[in-house]
Amino acid sequence: MSKEVKKFKDYEYKRPQSEELKSKIGKLLEVFNQANSANEQINLIMEFNEAEKDIMTMKSIAQIRHDINTKDEFYEKENNFWDEFMPQLMSYKAMYAKTVLASKFRNELEKKFGKHLFTKIELESKIFNQSIAEDMIEENKLVSEYHKLVAIGKVKVGGKEMTLNEVTPLRESKDRKIRKEANEAYFGYFADNVEKFDKIYDELVKLRTKMAKKLGYENFVQMAYDRMGRSDYSAKEVAGYRKQILDSVVPVASELKKRQKERLGYDKLYYYDDGFKFNSGNATPKGSADEIMQNGIKMFDELGGDLKTFFDFMHSHELFDVLGRDAKKAGGYCTFIPNYNSPFIYANFNGTDHDVKVLTHESGHAFQIYSSSKKQEIIEYLWPTMDAAEIHSMSMEFITWRWMDLFFKDDSEKYKFSHIAGAVEFIPYGATIDEFQHVVYENPEMTPLERRKAFRKIEKKYMPHIDYAGNEFLESGGLFFRQLHVFAVPFYYIDYTLAQVCALQFWKKSRDNRENTMKVYSNLCNAGGSKPFLELLKIGELNNPFVDGAIKKTVEPVIEYLNRVDDKKL
Ligand code: ZN
Repeated sequence: MSKEVKKFKDYEYKRPQSEELKSKIGKLLEVFNQANSANEQINLIMEFNEAEKDIMTMKSIAQIRHDINTKDEFYEKENNFWDEFMPQLMSYKAMYAKTVLASKFRNELEKKFGKHLFTKIELESKIFNQSIAEDMIEENKLVSEYHKLVAIGKVKVGGKEMTLNEVTPLRESKDRKIRKEANEAYFGYFADNVEKFDKIYDELVKLRTKMAKKLGYENFVQMAYDRMGRSDYSAKEVAGYRKQILDSVVPVASELKKRQKERLGYDKLYYYDDGFKFNSGNATPKGSADEIMQNGIKMFDELGGDLKTFFDFMHSHELFDVLGRDAKKAGGYCTFIPNYNSPFIYANFNGTDHDVKVLTHESGHAFQIYSSSKKQEIIEYLWPTMDAAEIHSMSMEFITWRWMDLFFKDDSEKYKFSHIAGAVEFIPYGATIDEFQHVVYENPEMTPLERRKAFRKIEKKYMPHIDYAGNEFLESGGLFFRQLHVFAVPFYYIDYTLAQVCALQFWKKSRDNRENTMKVYSNLCNAGGSKPFLELLKIGELNNPFVDGAIKKTVEPVIEYLNRVDDKKL
């Protein structure tokens, strides 16, 4: 008899009962403290693990169903419930961390689960205690204020009023006049609200500094590193890494900008020309969203092995929602539903090359979590830290290059060129955002004006090619207002560049020896978050980007490729 496949729409949702959960966790921890053997404690950790999986299962289902249709009243309520319930869960988790760290069988537990689990929960217990609970609520409020200020933003282009999101395609318009107007309008919104953005950011910087001091940190920088779960490198290594970017990537990015200018036949390339890459238009996927998904099946089928099994699973369980629709929340992500061993890919296709990038990128995340959930026993080891997590996704974008003509037909060479050129151009921008945040949080007393000045100075160092065409606001250092990470997830941004540098290594490897590369890639996915960043790099046979010379070595084959392409013909 064949077993019927349960599809996402049939996955059961039940809101956890917080009181019940609280007493259950309290009891578990009490028994843990009184346990007389390591084995007893190991079993209790597994029990706690199962409880956490149940909770995360419900949280993921509620989030996806709410995002898919924000007008669904039932999931609207559930979404609100989770917003309020999460801080409570954090305090349970902190109690759990404290109890496990104090175990009298610590050695035996480390032997069973690995040392990394303890490194992780040690960091978790360092970044939170009750004294900052109120501050954290305040921090969330300020971040929401930022999101809201961006979301309500309306500007006029060509006499038509639109949201900042709606302006985005016009900022890359073929018509230079429209492009200029759209960019001026877009940044004009931030300029018009400069005091509001300055105020939110100023309060966030001071609040985070206050929290860091309460927890015994010198300033917020190390607290942010701990929050990101970084356990095997510090701000010092990151500074050296940015220096390598300055020496080895910035000249390449400047050269690419020069080529763009020549390709377009301009005397000067201004900031509003940045997103417009080819006079013939940017590469677009040919065919409908449905055809993109069909080609996705074909691609993963040919990639074979575990990837074929994975994509078949995603498809048969209907673990995608990728079409843009009314009342559907913007954005794209991959999440995980532990009790069904199901990744879920969420996106909003819009007919540009973004659709293919989202499909390959999120499939990388999904394949990683699908693989690690089969190999890793505990929930802490499912996802790695963000620096490593983006390696799987960004590398998948490159590993799948061979199949790009399925999606782009005649545009595939154009897509590949702009994909890899975009990766290189992105790295100096990432370094700018990162260095800026170090300066800001090392000097929390800076005024908003001083901060923006500092931003512009750093920007000139890493992106000397940008010409703001006299735009006063951007000249004054206001670009970072549009970068939500600076407000919402401080110090996250460098992770994208670290992962990008690793993904470029996978790009090279998959061109040299695809079969072996797929094996290594699978190994890395299987490891999930069971190891810290630098140890994961070893599993992925990747060069440590913090070692002097590593970045130069990574970009050399990329330069070679870029130089071989006659981009004027694209
Ligand atoms: Zn990602």
